[in-house]
Amino acid sequence: MSLIDTRTPDPKKFIPGATGDWEVVLGLEVHAQVQSKSKLFSGAATAFGGEQNDHVSFVDAAMPGMLPVINEECVRQAVRTGLGLKAQINKRSVFARKNYFYPDLPQGYQISQFDQPIVGEGIIHLDMPDGPVEIGVERLHLEQDAGKSLHDQHPSMSYVDLNRSGVALMEIVSKPDLRSSEEAKAYIAKLRSILRYLGTSDADMEKGNLRADVNVSVRRPGGEFGTRCEIKNVNSIRFAGQAIEYEARRQIAILEDGGTIDQETRLFDSVKGETRSMRSKEEAHDYRYFPDPDLLPLEFDQAYIDALAADLPELPDEKKARFINDYGLTPYDADILVVERQSCDYFEDVAKGRDAKIAANWVINELFGRLNKEAISIDNSPISSDQLGGMIDLMADDTISGKIAKDVFEILWTEGGDPAAIVESRGMKQVTDLGAIETEIDAIIAANPDKVEQARDKPGLLGWFVGQVMKATGGKANPKAVNDLLRQKIGIE
Ligand code: ADP
Ligand code: MG
Repeated sequence: MSLIDTRTPDPKKFIPGATGDWEVVLGLEVHAQVQSKSKLFSGAATAFGGEQNDHVSFVDAAMPGMLPVINEECVRQAVRTGLGLKAQINKRSVFARKNYFYPDLPQGYQISQFDQPIVGEGIIHLDMPDGPVEIGVERLHLEQDAGKSLHDQHPSMSYVDLNRSGVALMEIVSKPDLRSSEEAKAYIAKLRSILRYLGTSDADMEKGNLRADVNVSVRRPGGEFGTRCEIKNVNSIRFAGQAIEYEARRQIAILEDGGTIDQETRLFDSVKGETRSMRSKEEAHDYRYFPDPDLLPLEFDQAYIDALAADLPELPDEKKARFINDYGLTPYDADILVVERQSCDYFEDVAKGRDAKIAANWVINELFGRLNKEAISIDNSPISSDQLGGMIDLMADDTISGKIAKDVFEILWTEGGDPAAIVESRGMKQVTDLGAIETEIDAIIAANPDKVEQARDKPGLLGWFVGQVMKATGGKANPKAVNDLLRQKIGIE
């Protein structure tokens, strides 16, 4: 791969060293488990959990004479992901054997793709606080996952669990276009979001279904690319950020000391917050790649690609643009909504036929705020979009005030129910009856003659009176009616 620098150096991102500024250059190789019922080349289940070695076919265990058969669903998912990344789809691709020995790799090689991957160059768009950035995707290829070695089950023995052996992975390789840990974190989050919208991977990092190998190098701004180290298998976005920060500083310290960086594979120790050497970097030729003789090249035509393209859901970038244009949302609010498809659906349900900004405000600030606080996903929200919408309607037609709406929200959250019925049965309706409000106002004016005097010179004091009336009416008086009446009675223009 030719390394082309597409970025103008940005001083805001430089890491200072003893002898001047340094720029970090990052490229990510993300492994995402393909969402499919069975494995890439066998009919064994991909289900998470279960007993060890429960989901293993003869193919996955590499019994002699067993032949791989491509799972079409995995191919479909890879092509759909490529389309979602606005990438070149290669109508002909080739599976290759990547040879290495590991106890949890019974074949003695991994079936992967080498010089002819299923998907070529694409783009991931990031909205960073300083503005948009386009990150190049170099390629996406399909490959098998390995099994798992278990070393801590027995003091003197190791075990191998082949449940993951042969599960389909998509390896998505970025160009070395990332320039800070913030960008790298945003890249992983965006990729995860796209995969989930597409339903091509659940991209769950906690289950190990999305892992990132992070390539880190440093250089003088605008200079030649430096030698990189690859940090393997980082399994959370936060750890990726920490690993990059640590690794960049480690490399800067070596270079400033007059040393050189050894190209190597490193591990991130999340407990110590540092990276450490695992092995010197292997080169592609060490793997003796060759086309897998058991598998024909993968070939499909334009009609196949077009059909999948036509069926693609709306993705985060398009949704964001539409939310800003159609609903008048701020880019900030739109960004929050589009992270998850389910949040968008929820918001659009609430916004339908209502003031979209008010809907966004309630969904983002009240609902998401509460869901986050209690670590509940939007799918399990105790308040449905119908309930929240119904509550907003009661505010819109002045049945309840914004303040009472928060109480209704609380009741919906804890007890559920129909918002209109709750308001009716609990006497939460806003008092718009001028007579009732007037009685309260008269009482407060009569009790505070000196404040009335002052308010005539200092209309700012009106707020105090409004507060008193609201208190006396349990927050149910219509604030506008209170304001108007108070001005009239006190005699403020
Ligand atoms: P390999 O497969 O041997 O790891 P690749 O050439 O496919 O090597 O690159 C792997 C990743 O490393 C890519 O994401 C690429 O962008 C990134 N990369 C390449 N050169 C550098 C560099 N000098 N600094 C940081 N990242 C780099
Ligand atoms: Mg690599």
